[in-house]
Amino acid sequence: MSKYRKTLVVDSSFIARSIIPTERAFVISYKGNAEIIAEHPETFGLVNPELIINKPSIIRVYKFVKQNILKVPLTRENIYRRDNYECVYCGSGNIKTLTLDHVIPQSKGGKDSWDNLVTACRRCNHEKADLSLEEYGKEIPTPYRPHYLMLMKQMDDIPKEWEHFLFF
Ligand SMILES: [Zn+2]
Repeated sequence: MSKYRKTLVVDSSFIARSIIPTERAFVISYKGNAEIIAEHPETFGLVNPELIINKPSIIRVYKFVKQNILKVPLTRENIYRRDNYECVYCGSGNIKTLTLDHVIPQSKGGKDSWDNLVTACRRCNHEKADLSLEEYGKEIPTPYRPHYLMLMKQMDDIPKEWEHFLFF
């Protein structure tokens, strides 16, 4: 799915609330119910070629939406999803061999937490064993707690300007 087909909706306090089709986001802002705070580098394909309207990337609704921020539960499945079901060490995507690896080994005080658990294939997990990342000699992206919107929507690629709102 093209990353330019969706708009991130933030509320008046800039909290990410949902991801909707760009057309809908445009209508909401056109009606005066939201302001466009970022645009995609792509325009709507309109009948009148003189009308050039960029697709909105982020809109801010004026109404404050009272709602608790949902925290993504730390589960095996959610860690796999965050890591795109791929081993962070070798990139293997064989779902049957996926395991959870502690970046800082449990034997060295490593905790069960978003920033210490990653997806690893059985072979890499076995190879890494009790080694620290430095000892193992591999670099991986820093593990993070994903925003629930990231897991709710199947988006492989998100616009750069969304990151500020989606990663804590
Ligand atoms: Zn691996």
